[in-house]
Amino acid sequence: MGWVREAEDFFRADGPLARALPQYEWRPQQARMARQVALVLEGSAGPPAAVALIEAGTGTGKSLAYLVPALFYAHATGERVVVSTQTIPLQEQLVSKDLPSLQEVLPFSFTHALVKGWANYLCLLRLERIRSRPEEQDEETEDELQALAAWADEVDEGSRSELPFEPTAELWEEVSADPDACLRADCPLFQRCHFFQARRKMEGAQLLVVNHHLLLADAVVRQAVGWESDRAVLPVYGCVILDEAHHLEETASAHLGRQLTRRGVERLLHRLHRSRGNRGGLLATARLLAGEAADREAKELLELLDWQILPATRRAGEQAEALFDGLAAWAARADGLRVIRPGELPERLERLAREAAGDWTALAGLLDRFRADLKGFAPAREERGRAVLAELEGVDLALRRQAEDLEAILQAEGPDEVHWLEGGRAGVKLRSAPVEVGPLLQRALFDQLAGVVATSATLTVDGRFDYLVERLGLEECRQDGRLLEEVIESPFDYAAQALLAVAEDLPEPGVPGFADAVAETLELLVPAVSGGTLVLFTSYQMLEEAGRALEGRLPADRGLMRQGDLPRSQLLDRLRSEPGAVCLATASFWEGVDLPGQALELVVIARLPFAVPTEPVVAARIERLRRLGRDAFAAYQLPEMVLRLKQGFGRLIRHRTDRGAVVVLDGRVTRRRYGQTVLASLPPASLVRGGRQAISEAVRRWLAEGPREVAG
Ligand code: SF4
Repeated sequence: MGWVREAEDFFRADGPLARALPQYEWRPQQARMARQVALVLEGSAGPPAAVALIEAGTGTGKSLAYLVPALFYAHATGERVVVSTQTIPLQEQLVSKDLPSLQEVLPFSFTHALVKGWANYLCLLRLERIRSRPEEQDEETEDELQALAAWADEVDEGSRSELPFEPTAELWEEVSADPDACLRADCPLFQRCHFFQARRKMEGAQLLVVNHHLLLADAVVRQAVGWESDRAVLPVYGCVILDEAHHLEETASAHLGRQLTRRGVERLLHRLHRSRGNRGGLLATARLLAGEAADREAKELLELLDWQILPATRRAGEQAEALFDGLAAWAARADGLRVIRPGELPERLERLAREAAGDWTALAGLLDRFRADLKGFAPAREERGRAVLAELEGVDLALRRQAEDLEAILQAEGPDEVHWLEGGRAGVKLRSAPVEVGPLLQRALFDQLAGVVATSATLTVDGRFDYLVERLGLEECRQDGRLLEEVIESPFDYAAQALLAVAEDLPEPGVPGFADAVAETLELLVPAVSGGTLVLFTSYQMLEEAGRALEGRLPADRGLMRQGDLPRSQLLDRLRSEPGAVCLATASFWEGVDLPGQALELVVIARLPFAVPTEPVVAARIERLRRLGRDAFAAYQLPEMVLRLKQGFGRLIRHRTDRGAVVVLDGRVTRRRYGQTVLASLPPASLVRGGRQAISEAVRRWLAEGPREVAG
């Protein structure tokens, strides 16, 4: 029997999963998805990839549906499979729950590893170096360093997520593993190094769990060094499963762009030299090292440090300060967000930027010279010296990258990229991103791999994958017949379990009085349900306005919470534990919230989640489509909104026994022509529309009496 058949049989009602897992329920949808994944992997004879887009409705059990065939495939062929996700909670579910339970059930054992980037690990050598100079630390930092050292001795993995406390960002940057400053095999702590222990585990693993950022970082390196190279981030693999694939475009856009922040520049220079407080920085350590060289050589090195490098470091800092102050003032004149077009940068800022980039490159050159001179001396060949040299090299490379990013962003050249400036004085950021990532994804991933499965609960608009195919650069793949497109319906009975209610008598969002109308509607709706309520907004401003308008209007026993009152996990815990709690939220709460049963009976969508059209990447995409003579609303803004709305809707029904209502307060969903596309894209819930009073009553009856009592 071939492995595809074995993987399929695994999901049978009387198969190994059912026998081993008491909570296992046979679902034809899950079995179907597992079969499709297996067929794509089996047919993966070589690049360019066979690609499957699989939209798997909530409740399909999609993680097992791809893990089982992936593991059978890896076992049968000896090929490695990568599973990439967007979020940490999903990675945790795969690594802590799904894979360990499959280890118990599968007829063979397998190896897997969760792969994280460098900055997630503590560098033991950097920690040791910093601790060896207690006179440079203040008391608080000294305590943190001691706690880190104690933790490093006991911990298994040494990754930041295991830390029982949160170190300051500045300290973590100084002690975390950094590829530019790492001594690799020359490091005296190489055998104990947490990062390389994780890498050794990864090398031997048949299945790797990564995030989209790391996957893309690997693909970018492979573009430069060749796909089969062992110098990339991940070991060579042939197939990838992309879960939460609706995030791939946005992650690629962020990853393939550039970013330069005021804080980042300040931290880098601070690493080199600290003028305030009693801490010295790298140059102070380098100075001690230089002082140990023979007399004449030491004199030359110290002169280079004192007369050239230190003044150049100060100048680079002053120049950065002047530049970022100027940029912040320029951004402030445009409400803190300004798209940079070629030739638009004021002359003074252009000059400051040129000077800053020149100063950073000159400082990098001096560090380079210092390292070259120091390398020949005995102290630099000792362990301590090698570590300092590696650190200096790291700063040198980062300074050069910084200068390159600054010039590239401010020159703002090329129609395929968008460049912008955002933030206030302290947090000012320069950024750029490619307008379209499809062609890059095609070149860097789809043309290189043998098999790709992209899955999520939200990939289609009105039942079709066209939007995603275009955004991810899969048109050619579709034309060549290499693309499998499959919608796996949710096993839930939405018509019986969910009510979709559209309130049609509120003012349009953005019109004065909307926040008051939202509060009034919630005053009617919340008492109509006994379970929890999640109200999803599209901006903090709208959330705040509605929250203020709602104060004192809900019954005292309905705990009202706003995003930001508590950390996200605590807000969710309160929804779970306090019957009837109400949470006003935005951003991250549109997805990843999993509250079965009474914890969540009502989801209120305050406004259709269209992307802000002035956001630089969104604006650039709209502009590009218009230049091509296309309808940007139909081709981009509407489908993007629909995918987000589907995510919001998906918060409601998490289990076969759940019942509840989604209420949309944005009447455009029934008033505008595009509303048909929106409604056709949502799960097939029972629909009711009308004034806020009528829909509140319909929600109350729906939850009290069941589906047949509600007039559509
Ligand atoms: S091998 Fe690199 S990351 Fe690991 S402890 Fe040594 S220097 Fe740090």
